[in-house]
Amino acid sequence: MKKVCMIYTGGTIGMKKTENGYYPEPHFLERSLKQIHELSYHEVPEFDLIEYSPLLDSSNIQMEQWTKIAEDIFEHYDEYCGFVILHGTDTMAYTASALSFMLQGLSKPIVLTGSQIPLEEIRSDARDNIISSLMIAGEGQISEVCVFFANKLFRGNRCVKISSDEKGAFSSPNYPVLAESGITIRYFNRNIDIPKGAELLYTPIKKQNILVLKVVPGISYDSFTKLITEHLDALVIEAFGSGNIPNRSHELTKLLQTAEQNNTAVVICTQCLRGTTSIGEYETSSQLKDADAICAYDMTVESTVAKLYYLLSKGYNRKQLKKWMETNIAGELSR
Ligand code: ASP
Repeated sequence: MKKVCMIYTGGTIGMKKTENGYYPEPHFLERSLKQIHELSYHEVPEFDLIEYSPLLDSSNIQMEQWTKIAEDIFEHYDEYCGFVILHGTDTMAYTASALSFMLQGLSKPIVLTGSQIPLEEIRSDARDNIISSLMIAGEGQISEVCVFFANKLFRGNRCVKISSDEKGAFSSPNYPVLAESGITIRYFNRNIDIPKGAELLYTPIKKQNILVLKVVPGISYDSFTKLITEHLDALVIEAFGSGNIPNRSHELTKLLQTAEQNNTAVVICTQCLRGTTSIGEYETSSQLKDADAICAYDMTVESTVAKLYYLLSKGYNRKQLKKWMETNIAGELSR
């Protein structure tokens, strides 16, 4: 009999309403799950539940939790046919991206899901997200980290949270969906291009100092230059369009020089949801090209940040970092 491992890390899905707002109460989800009679249907795989302590609102997720999830999957990998990670939606895209780098060579599905309305509340989306995720984890047609939400299965390191209040909270604007759950669960095989791995490889991630800077018209780089010290490992710049930034003041030169002097990697993402960064296409990105900035191409900011945590944790120097940031590792980048 196929068995799935379900890990509850926290998040709205198992939260209870309190005077101070929603809060993930220990064992509350476990009790609520007992009320879902469909979980005993033969179509739904059996599962074991691991509940973390403390349960977290995912805004508080740190590298230790990423490491714990990856370690638990690695440790129990042979015992289960797949894994479902119940997680808060706020940082789910970061965790999914991080896990996709930390766990390579997967041959089983790792499905992250959550909900916009707690399982215990009326009109909750939790019930269907849990049942469908368990079925996808049990079916074993996917061998990568993915996110299931509102009837759609996304590649984990391609998805972004697009809505704070709609049930369709996620999308993967730069990559097609992997599967859709309608009357049946339909897999789109042409999009599922990560082959089953022969051996699981686990790499832990450590904390790194990463700053994300979104450029806006009229930006004053000087205030950000002060933040670039020897302690800053990477500066991710969310640029306009294909990687363009305001370049008509000397402040930019100073910012890039300061980054170089402090050995801070500069990575360029786009503010656009679709398309790719292409440094050097316009004069407004030429200074970035001259500074040998790293191009994130069509990676999401979430994936870029998670990939930086992963590569910096491996102790790569700046040259290796640039090479691997610009190379596809886990389906996060179309190149
Ligand atoms: N703040 C919650 C969390 O990310 C939101 C959610 O789960 O939907 O943990």
